[in-house]
Amino acid sequence: MIAEAKQVLKQYFGYDEFRDGQARIIGNILEGKNTVGIMPTGGGKSLCYQIPALMQDGVTLVISPLISLMKDQVDSLLHQGIPATYINSTLSNNEVESRMEEISLGEYKLVYIAPERLESSGFLHFLHTLPIPLVAVDEAHCLSQWGHDFRPSYLGIYKAVNQLSSNPVILALTATATPQVQEDILHHLQIPDQNKVLTGFQRTNLFFQVVKGEDRKRWVEKYVSKNKQHSGIIYCATRKEVENLYLHLEKKGYAAGKYHGGLSDTLRQEQQEAFLNDSITIMIATNAFGMGINKSNVRYVVHYQIPKNMEGYYQEAGRAGRDGVDSECVLLFSPQDIQTQRYIIDQNIVNPELHKNEMQKLRDMIDFVHTEACLQNYILNYFGEHVDQECGHCSNCLDDRESEDVTKEAQMVLSCMMRMNERFGTSLISGVLTGSKNKKILDWGFDRLTTYGLMKDQSQKEVGLFIDYLISEGIIGVEGGSFPVLKVSTKGKEVLMGERKVTRKIQPTVSAIVPKEDGLFHALRNLRKSIADSEGVPPFVIFSDKSLQDMCMKKPKTSEEFLHVSGVGESKLVRYGELFINEISAFLEENPQHQVEIQKPETTYKSNKSDTASYLISFSLFKEHKKIKDIAKERGMSTATIENHIIRTYQEGMMDDWSILFTEEEEILIEKAVSKVGTGLLKPIKEELPKEISYFQIKGYLVKAGQK
Ligand code: ADP
Repeated sequence: MIAEAKQVLKQYFGYDEFRDGQARIIGNILEGKNTVGIMPTGGGKSLCYQIPALMQDGVTLVISPLISLMKDQVDSLLHQGIPATYINSTLSNNEVESRMEEISLGEYKLVYIAPERLESSGFLHFLHTLPIPLVAVDEAHCLSQWGHDFRPSYLGIYKAVNQLSSNPVILALTATATPQVQEDILHHLQIPDQNKVLTGFQRTNLFFQVVKGEDRKRWVEKYVSKNKQHSGIIYCATRKEVENLYLHLEKKGYAAGKYHGGLSDTLRQEQQEAFLNDSITIMIATNAFGMGINKSNVRYVVHYQIPKNMEGYYQEAGRAGRDGVDSECVLLFSPQDIQTQRYIIDQNIVNPELHKNEMQKLRDMIDFVHTEACLQNYILNYFGEHVDQECGHCSNCLDDRESEDVTKEAQMVLSCMMRMNERFGTSLISGVLTGSKNKKILDWGFDRLTTYGLMKDQSQKEVGLFIDYLISEGIIGVEGGSFPVLKVSTKGKEVLMGERKVTRKIQPTVSAIVPKEDGLFHALRNLRKSIADSEGVPPFVIFSDKSLQDMCMKKPKTSEEFLHVSGVGESKLVRYGELFINEISAFLEENPQHQVEIQKPETTYKSNKSDTASYLISFSLFKEHKKIKDIAKERGMSTATIENHIIRTYQEGMMDDWSILFTEEEEILIEKAVSKVGTGLLKPIKEELPKEISYFQIKGYLVKAGQK
């Protein structure tokens, strides 16, 4: 069975091998076992239900909380030659009805819905009538209120699915589940522990970095200027910060987008699309952005402020490098942000137990910033996974900077705080230390303190950053909400007494990320963008960066070579093979120095009949003027399936001879019926027409009319 699944993997998705966990999950499903799959973002969870969906009769239901993701997922599947659709609140009633009708007619292998739809008894009744071999529950951590995205509607899934007459297998998938959340998912969906497939959360292509005590506006500016050609997301904790940073970068001439809950739906939609389409490369957003963004070529995620928990952090950071290409995740830490997060928790969580839980999560997040051990390992430990080896490429693993002894400076700050009776915040303390003539300082008489002007060789800002550093090291404590007051901690007292040393590493310089791309990559990326624009889909739906990189490496000249490129299945070969092969050869002609000997792959991929996309086989028989009935018989498939295959070839423009479908007179009849009852549903059209005219002909007509 797995051999068959592997063939589907190659044929539709263009990959040679399963990734860790995929084969086990797919094997479980095909054996009829309810399963929980826990894999990191970008680990390839979608394939775990898409492949069984293709291998089994009937339609697979995918439950996802992410409405904005559905369209992209469906577009990607259609581009891979897989019939899929979605039903959600963005559709009109007419659209919903016609999709439901198409689903009943067996036109789709996958249907995406939001969990709330299962609360409709009418929809449940409809599901009862369908053959559903599998229900995939995406983002299954939404089931648990100990998780970070609890959705009450998820609690109704088990009961609804359990009642379905086709008794489907359940597959629950998530990327971010602590042991407690995993337990909740298993328990709620009544899945035995042995059916849990946990692959590990490690993302070896992500390079984690924590940057402390930097002027972050300046840091971000440098960073985006060094990484202009890459797409990245910058997460801020509040709408206000998003607006501030957006204005700042805009003023500096960067084409950035912004996204937060305070913007209108239309504006958010526009900004999101511009980012997905690579029209803008920087997205500045609150955590409202990203649920459902499966753009695979995000090369960096910067957290401008500390997020409120590790789950949120890893999920957001994990949006970098879904295509497996090296990417960076940078957390800019400034101690005041802890207050912001505390405030957000205080405002939003009333239940004392949940409040305590959230505060603990925030503390775990803060510890991540302070740890000097491997950052990747810290994350893995948090999710209950223990690894011995360090990642070797996070900012802690790579940190071989010399440390400076800054005990004396720390003592100056601490003693100044003591003299000011520990009643003030960073700005006033740094003002006193640098000898500011600020009115408040003079009014309080702080200019008479012995610590006044003690650090006047530095700017007030630099001293402020040093204070931030002492806070992040736990030498100074922060109390209070909107106007935090700094206190000397126990650790700080030891420093004052000369019992503890303070060292500080020299701050790192901002680096450009990821390998430099060559001209061929640029050429292919431009081609991808123009195809994507003309098809109205995001570029990554056409090909991932990884596929483009692989093309740059393999420089395919023939269709057969093109099929060897990672991510090229048969549908993509048919659609884009020629365009990309031509682009590569044109580039090589102009740049002969790029022509290098390409190693022959060990095994040659042979395209045989069983490997060819199913609808293309039907198409070739249809072109030979065989009748649908006969093709169905020959292929052992239903006539409805064959008809759908043929309709697809018309939709994709491979076929344009409409006379095989209907005569001119028949076309006029259908046209009249359509103008009378509209195109919303097929049934009313059919009822307007003589019996001999089939649904097949009507669908064909609608495709033709849509292309006129
Ligand atoms: P997830 O849902 O776990 O975040 P996706 O299913 O979106 O991840 O997959 C992430 C990327 O990895 C996609 O571009 C997908 O095509 C690719 N991918 C999935 N499985 C494989 C595989 N076996 N080999 C190579 N690439 C794969």
